[in-house]
Amino acid sequence: MIRLIILGAPGSGKGTHTYRIAEKYNLKHIVVGDVVKQEIRDKTELGKIMYDYTSVGKFVPSDIVVDVLEKQAKDLKGFDGFIIDTAPINMEQKEAMKDWVIDGVIWLKIKNYDILRERILDRLICPKCRMVTSKTISPDRICPYCGAVLEQRYDDNLETVNKRIVQYEEKTLPVIKSYQREGKVIEIDAEQSKEKVYAEICDKIDKFLKKTI
Ligand SMILES: [Zn+2]
Repeated sequence: MIRLIILGAPGSGKGTHTYRIAEKYNLKHIVVGDVVKQEIRDKTELGKIMYDYTSVGKFVPSDIVVDVLEKQAKDLKGFDGFIIDTAPINMEQKEAMKDWVIDGVIWLKIKNYDILRERILDRLICPKCRMVTSKTISPDRICPYCGAVLEQRYDDNLETVNKRIVQYEEKTLPVIKSYQREGKVIEIDAEQSKEKVYAEICDKIDKFLKKTI
């Protein structure tokens, strides 16, 4: 069983890499935003509670987000584990996950925030298969994997990007530091090219798994 979390600033490449890691290690890819939306769409018990918050523009409380993740993480039929993208994003969520067994936290580390801004403004995402690509790579805006029309995320603009970077520094970095003190963090230099980042992640996951499991 492999239980991973992936964290990093917006634009650090979490979507792209998690997609590939999940496939390679046969992990369930749990994207927090997606599972929350799914529960709301399916009008489950948790979905109804969350709708009461999101419909009035409020954040869903941490313990409820974690309940949703737990539901996903318990149902691993056919998988060898899971990778959660992106939670816990603040200390409150981490506290709500204190009983979880987590093997490793992949940290896509970027120091130069201009790289993040450039990447985010260039980014395109496939609404169907979740492939993350860019205007540079896919100028025709067609998903190279499934043929769907690629979209720009509504919050991929400079103003919200800057806000998300501040939020990451204030809320998520303390979570990463805290996992670091627990010896759980797998640090990745995410300023390298995509292929190098991916190779470094796989290499470090392999070594990490040999050591801990
Ligand atoms: Zn696609």
